[in-house]
Amino acid sequence: MINASPSRNNTRSFSMRLPLPSRPRGGQRETRMQPHLPLSLAAIALVAGGPAQAQLCNGVSITKSPDGRALGHFPYGDAAPDALMAVPPSMAIGACRLRPEAAAALQRLLTAAAGDPAVQGRLYAFSCHRSLVHQQWTFCRTRESATGVDRAISAAPPGHSEHGTGYAVDFTVRPADGCPDAEACMAAKPAFRWLAANAPRFGLELSFPTSNKQGVKWEPWHWRWVGKSSAEPGAARARFLFAKARAAFPANPAIDPVLPRVVPPVVVRTIEQAPADEKGKKKRRRKERRRD
Ligand SMILES: [Zn+2]
Repeated sequence: MINASPSRNNTRSFSMRLPLPSRPRGGQRETRMQPHLPLSLAAIALVAGGPAQAQLCNGVSITKSPDGRALGHFPYGDAAPDALMAVPPSMAIGACRLRPEAAAALQRLLTAAAGDPAVQGRLYAFSCHRSLVHQQWTFCRTRESATGVDRAISAAPPGHSEHGTGYAVDFTVRPADGCPDAEACMAAKPAFRWLAANAPRFGLELSFPTSNKQGVKWEPWHWRWVGKSSAEPGAARARFLFAKARAAFPANPAIDPVLPRVVPPVVVRTIEQAPADEKGKKKRRRKERRRD
C-alpha cells in the first residue's frame, strides 16, 4: 500500500507499507512472482521522486540521505514481472530471472566459463532478480538482533537493492570446497579471478569492490549488467538506473567509467628563440665590436 501525503515543504512524500516478511517459497530463491501492482507503483515513486523515508523491518522507517540513499543504498524499486525472463535451470542454483539482455549476457558468460579450465569448477548464478517482498525478507532476516545500519552493510533495505532492477546477479562456484555462497572466500577462488578478468567482456561489472566508499560490504559475488558499451541494446536503461551509483562509487573492475578521465595537458618545453630583429641587432653589435 502506498500513502501519498503533502509534507511540510510541500513536496510529495511517499511511505510504503509492506507485509511482514515471510520466507519466500523455494528456499533462498524465489520461485513465484509476488503481488506486484502496488509495489510497482512504489517502485515508480522510488525511482522517480525518491521518498524521504525508507521502510526497514517491523514498521520501522528511516530518513534517507539527501542523495536518496537509505543506509548507503540507492533506490531501485522493482522490475515488472513481465519484463523478466528465466535463465536456463542448468545455469542457476534455484530460479533465476533477469531482464532479457542481462539474461542473454549471463548465459554467454556462463557458457564461456564452463569451457575454460581456468575457472577450476563450475560457475552458477545463485540469486538474480528479487522482488520487494523477497528483499524485505532478505534484509530483515539478516542478523535479526542487529540494527538497520548493521544489516545494511551486507543487505539492502527493500526497494534499494540492485537485485530489484533485474540487472544484478550473484555468482557462486561448485564444488564449493567449504566456501559458503555470498562469502568473501569467493575472492580467493580461481573462478573469481576468471570473473574479474572476463566479466566485463560480457557487460558485467563488480558493484561493491573492496573498500568501497558506499559503505557496503565487499561483495566479490555480486555483479551488475550495464552492457559492454552504452550502444548495446538495453544498456542505456541499465546505465540510467545505475548512473548515480556508478558516478559516485565506481565499480572495480568497471566498464566505461562514467566519470571522464581527466587527461593532463601535455606540456612541451621549448627553447625560447629570440625574435629575428633581435638576432640582427646582436649580429650588428658583434661586427661593431670586431671593428673596435
Ligand atoms: Zn547480490
